[in-house]
Amino acid sequence: MKFGTKVIHAGLEHDSATGAVMTPIYQTSTYAQASPGDHKGFEYSRTGNPTRAALERNIAAIENGKHGLCFGSGLAAIDAVIKLLNPGDEVISTNDLYGGSYRIFTKIFEKYGIKFHFVGMQDPVKIESMINDNTKLIWVETPTNPMMNIIDIEAVSRIAKAKGLLLAVDNTFATPYLQNPIDLGADIVMHSVTKYLGGHSDVVMGALVVNDDALAEQLYFIQNSSGAVPGPQDSFLVLRGIKTLHLRVQRHCENGEKVAHYLASHPKVDKVYWPGFESHPNHEVAKKQMRGFGGMISFTLKGNRMEDAHKVISTMHVFTLAESLGGVESLSGHPATMTHAAIPKEDREKTGVVDSLIRLSVGVEDADDLLADLKQALDKI
Ligand SMILES: *Cc1c(COP(=O)(O)O)cnc(C)c1O
Repeated sequence: MKFGTKVIHAGLEHDSATGAVMTPIYQTSTYAQASPGDHKGFEYSRTGNPTRAALERNIAAIENGKHGLCFGSGLAAIDAVIKLLNPGDEVISTNDLYGGSYRIFTKIFEKYGIKFHFVGMQDPVKIESMINDNTKLIWVETPTNPMMNIIDIEAVSRIAKAKGLLLAVDNTFATPYLQNPIDLGADIVMHSVTKYLGGHSDVVMGALVVNDDALAEQLYFIQNSSGAVPGPQDSFLVLRGIKTLHLRVQRHCENGEKVAHYLASHPKVDKVYWPGFESHPNHEVAKKQMRGFGGMISFTLKGNRMEDAHKVISTMHVFTLAESLGGVESLSGHPATMTHAAIPKEDREKTGVVDSLIRLSVGVEDADDLLADLKQALDKI
């Protein structure tokens, strides 16, 4: 099956009880048993629920993996991965990382004796010098947030395999339409389903996809034992969202390209960070491992004034100023005062998060309206 067919059909069957074409919302916590242990595959909805199970099969299929597991949020999915480890184990992670991932690593799991190292992985060689006998996991996010750096998943997976380490990739920004980390050698793919997979800014959910049966078994044990599972209604909404993933992301890419080029040509704009530009430092890697460059763009303003950035984001009407990304509607954000506010100015500026940096999640509206909205806002500074 090709991708556009998989998103609609993979792992899904018409309901055996009624013939319902769409997967029903099995809003139940428990299931009748004829005698103890004699049931139809479901016992209790933390352990398994038919609506969630359909979604888990579907997400596994679109990521080219065998096993899918859904969680109550992206962070709950990350939580499950780190719970594979033991005190004393070490993790090497990208340094330009989603803030919530950095927080759960350093503020929750360091307490339990797991050690995290953060390194710029655009040059994968830098990873090797940080590996020691305690290293168990490499955590990659690509493209990164908000600087849109690209990391070569295949190159990192060669290092991981040579040293017997697990490789997990946060594929939230790229989506399986643009990039499949398992095909590039990753052991675990993680998604904040909240973003592009859900796609309509109405659900918070996370997912993991793996190929290895033993690894899946360990993660199912953690999923059931820790219990951070999503409900059937949210699972239904995401099944519905994924059916148009290929159409949406294609349009996100087209609109992203138009917005990136418009910004690059604007006299008040300084730098534009988007992996589709040939001048992007990791453009060749992006071209090799991604099937498109996506709709996430960051840019800075000439003069680098915070008040100019605030003016632009608060005078746009089609772009809504809000946290999150990946929905059909365009959103804007100001990393220095929003997602990265807790990081000292000097440290955030080292990674490029300067005062005038604006991050856009370009939606699937009519591109002319998006460009006109940016123009009228930039005219005001
Ligand atoms: C949003 C996000 C997360 C966290 O997911 P939640 O669903 O908000 O818990 C993790 N990684 C990336 C790249 C994200 O954008």
